[in-house]
Amino acid sequence: MTVQTRFAPSPTGKLHLGHALSALVAYDMASKNHGEFILRFEDIDHTRVRSHYYREIEEDLHWLGITWKQKPWSQLDRLKTYQKALDELRLQDLVYPCFCTRREIDDELAQMTQAPHGPDGSHYPGICRDLTESQINDLLKTRIPSWRLNSQKAAHLATKLTFTDLKHGKIEVNALLLGDVVLARKDIGCSYHLAVCLDDAAQGITHVTRGCDLLPATHLHRVLQQLLKLPEPIYLHHELVLDEDGQRLAKRHQSQAISTLRDQGMSQAEVRSMLSSYQSDLAPLMNL
Ligand code: GLU
Repeated sequence: MTVQTRFAPSPTGKLHLGHALSALVAYDMASKNHGEFILRFEDIDHTRVRSHYYREIEEDLHWLGITWKQKPWSQLDRLKTYQKALDELRLQDLVYPCFCTRREIDDELAQMTQAPHGPDGSHYPGICRDLTESQINDLLKTRIPSWRLNSQKAAHLATKLTFTDLKHGKIEVNALLLGDVVLARKDIGCSYHLAVCLDDAAQGITHVTRGCDLLPATHLHRVLQQLLKLPEPIYLHHELVLDEDGQRLAKRHQSQAISTLRDQGMSQAEVRSMLSSYQSDLAPLMNL
């Protein structure tokens, strides 16, 4: 097996130290195992993408010493594939159209005494889950729906699923963990969750390395892999880089942007050494 890893940033902001760690983990895992590192732009959310970030991200990665052979994929070239997968799920009755606005969902949640919730907040309260065909047809005349996974139905099909995380061990999948997640947004026709599973499979990614904030999402991804008959990668969810107040870095942390650190005169080695404590914990896991 040739090890294939990827770093999949969204061109919606500058790379910060947290991204640099993710990129270096993926790059080191590929290099140490004579594999290939792939850069992929997760750019389906055109409302937030800015064209200059593609180039800036590539520049920052090169400056960190990261290289790749394949031309980076843009998800915008793959919309038909995402659509086809959604159609497949629709044929199996595993997704349903949702016409709710955010406001309607929040109002419904506010009225519930015990709103179901998971690690990413409240679950969708199921308002559109049991609409009849004629209700759906009526609504379709005036509104574009998003499409949600029917997690209960999916859970019946995806029993006894697990995933292997090199740091956290073998984990049993909870197909209900995130509830009825949106798999196709009404404005863009797909979602991160659907696209990432299809792209990882299409690019032959053997090891998915990313921050541990996405560990809950992996439960859903394993379900989607099962439903869409996609291969199962091995995972490594690494710790998140924190700022001096112990908060995780976000795109608003301009001070920790790689380009800012570089402009302040920091060398590549100095930036890398800021991440070395996170990386040294992972070093033993890198020899596959
Ligand atoms: N675009 C996602 C992010 O920036 C990548 C998630 C993943 O690696 O699966 O968080």
